[in-house]
Amino acid sequence: MSWQPDALIVAASCLCWLIIVIAGAVFFDRNRNARLKRWLWPVWITGSSLSFVEAVCSALGHISVAIIAIAIAVGLINLLAQKFCPTCGLSQYANNPFRSDNKCTECGSALSRQKSRAPHLESS
Ligand SMILES: [Zn+2]
Repeated sequence: MSWQPDALIVAASCLCWLIIVIAGAVFFDRNRNARLKRWLWPVWITGSSLSFVEAVCSALGHISVAIIAIAIAVGLINLLAQKFCPTCGLSQYANNPFRSDNKCTECGSALSRQKSRAPHLESS
């Protein structure tokens, strides 16, 4: 007796993942509040990674360690590589997240030493 994936559950899981990814991509592209985006970025990465794992594992019909490992690796790379300009708020993907001389392509501000504290806790 093997477990068969329910097509409705698979479709709902894929739809949830797509909605999370598209809504996040639009938000992080359009919004210019760098503090808010820095605070929400790890939340969105975690949510989109978990929903991806859930969608793929529901389609496969079992929990896949390889899919979980891929989701964790991609999530960590995205956590490190995504920068938000402290001056203009533009979202930018750093080709080398370990370089300290990354600069904003729009205003030229330095993108290093960014903190991800909650926006309401930060004084300006
Ligand atoms: Zn900028």
